[in-house]
Amino acid sequence: MKHDPSRAIFEMKQFGEFGDVNPSITDSATYTFLQAKTMSDTFHGESEGCFLYSRHWNPSNKYLADVLAAMEGTEEGWVTASGMGAITSAILQCCNAGDHIVSSVTTYGGTFAFMQNYLPKFNIKTTFVDITDLDAVRNAITPETKIIYTESMTNPMLQISDIPALAEIANEHNIKLMVDNTFTPMIIQPAALGAHIVVYSMTKFINGKNDCVAGAICGTHEFIGSLIDVNSGTAMLLGPVLDPLRSSSILKNLHTLHIRMQQHSKNAMYLAIKMKGAGLKISYPGLPDHKGHEIMKSQMNPDFGYGGMLSIDLITSDKANRFMELMEMHDVGYLAVSLGYFKTLFSNSGKSTSSEVPQDVQDDMGLSAGLVRFSVGLDHDIERTWKSIEYCLKMME
Ligand SMILES: *Cc1c(COP(=O)(O)O)cnc(C)c1O
Repeated sequence: MKHDPSRAIFEMKQFGEFGDVNPSITDSATYTFLQAKTMSDTFHGESEGCFLYSRHWNPSNKYLADVLAAMEGTEEGWVTASGMGAITSAILQCCNAGDHIVSSVTTYGGTFAFMQNYLPKFNIKTTFVDITDLDAVRNAITPETKIIYTESMTNPMLQISDIPALAEIANEHNIKLMVDNTFTPMIIQPAALGAHIVVYSMTKFINGKNDCVAGAICGTHEFIGSLIDVNSGTAMLLGPVLDPLRSSSILKNLHTLHIRMQQHSKNAMYLAIKMKGAGLKISYPGLPDHKGHEIMKSQMNPDFGYGGMLSIDLITSDKANRFMELMEMHDVGYLAVSLGYFKTLFSNSGKSTSSEVPQDVQDDMGLSAGLVRFSVGLDHDIERTWKSIEYCLKMME
C-alpha cells in the first residue's frame, strides 16, 4: 500500500508525562544520570533512549522529529533552528574539502548563495544545472561529486524535479540525492521516490503560522546518527538545534498540515484557472500546459493537490510592484517574502528571495524581472479573492 503521510502522523501515539494528549515540553538543557556508566555510554552513542544535552537531543525535539520521519517514511529525523540550518548541516555532513555538488540552478536564494559564495571557502565547488535536463545532470558529475541537490518543486520557477530519475543517477554513482521538499510536504514524498536525504524549511507550510523559523533533516538512522555524533557530527558541532518550546508548537501545527495543504492547493488551482482565463502568463504545476505537470502527476499524492505556489509574469518589476501594492491595498494578501502562511503572500522573486542569484544567472534560468510569486492562502471565499485580483488588474490598465 502507498505511504499515506497524514495517516502516518495520525497513528503516532505520543503522550505527555501525565497522559497529556499533547506531549510534555522538556524545558531543560541537561539531564541527570543515576549511574555514571550510563552517561559515558550515552556519550559514545551506546545507550538508546537516554538524553544527554539538548544540543544533541531534547525529548520535545524527538517527538517532532519522530512525526516528521513518519510523515516522510524515513528512519529518522532531526530538527533545526531554521531551514538553512538543516540544509547547510546536511550538505557539510556529506562533503569534505575538495568535494563537488551538482545542484539545480533554481533553488532557494540562500541555498544558492551558500553553494556559490560560501562553500568555496572549503574548496567545495558546485556545478549548477537545469535540473529537468537529466543529461546535463549526468554530464556535470565528476569523481569528486558527493551530492545531487534539488528542490521537489523549485523556487521560484516551480519546475518539477524527476526524483526517481535523479535517484537512479545518484545510485549509479554511489552518491546522495538531497531534496528540499519545502514547497510540497505531503504532496511529494522524496524518500519514497528514492531521495536519500530530505530537508525542509519548516518555517513555511509545515508550521504554517509564520511565527518562527525552523527546519528539519530526514534520512537514514545512519545519516542522522552521523550528523549528531559528538565527535564529528556537523549538527552537534555547529549547533543549529531547534528550541524545544518551538518544536512543541510546530508539532501541534503539523497535525493540521493535511487539511491546510488541501485548501492551499484547492485555492491555488482556482486562481490558476482564473488567471489563465484572464490571459495572464501564469505558471502552476497543476495546469496541463505546465512543463512539469506530467512528472508531478506521476510522483504526487493526489489527495493533497498541486500545492499552494503559483507565479505570474508581469514582464517588468515596475508593473509587478504596482500590482502587488494594489493587491495588498485590496485585501488579496500581504506583500511579503516567505510562504505557506494562512494568508496569501506575494513577492517579486528577482528582487527579493532570489536577489542572491546574479542577474545573468536569473536571465539564464528564465527568471523574469516581473515575476510575482504567490503563496496562496487558506481563504474560505476564494471567488471573492479572485474578484479583488481582477479589480487590481483593471486598475493596472
Ligand atoms: C525558506 C526556504 C529555505 C530556508 O529556510 P529558513 O527557514 O528561512 O532558513 C530553504 N528552502 C526553501 C525552498 C525555502 O523556501
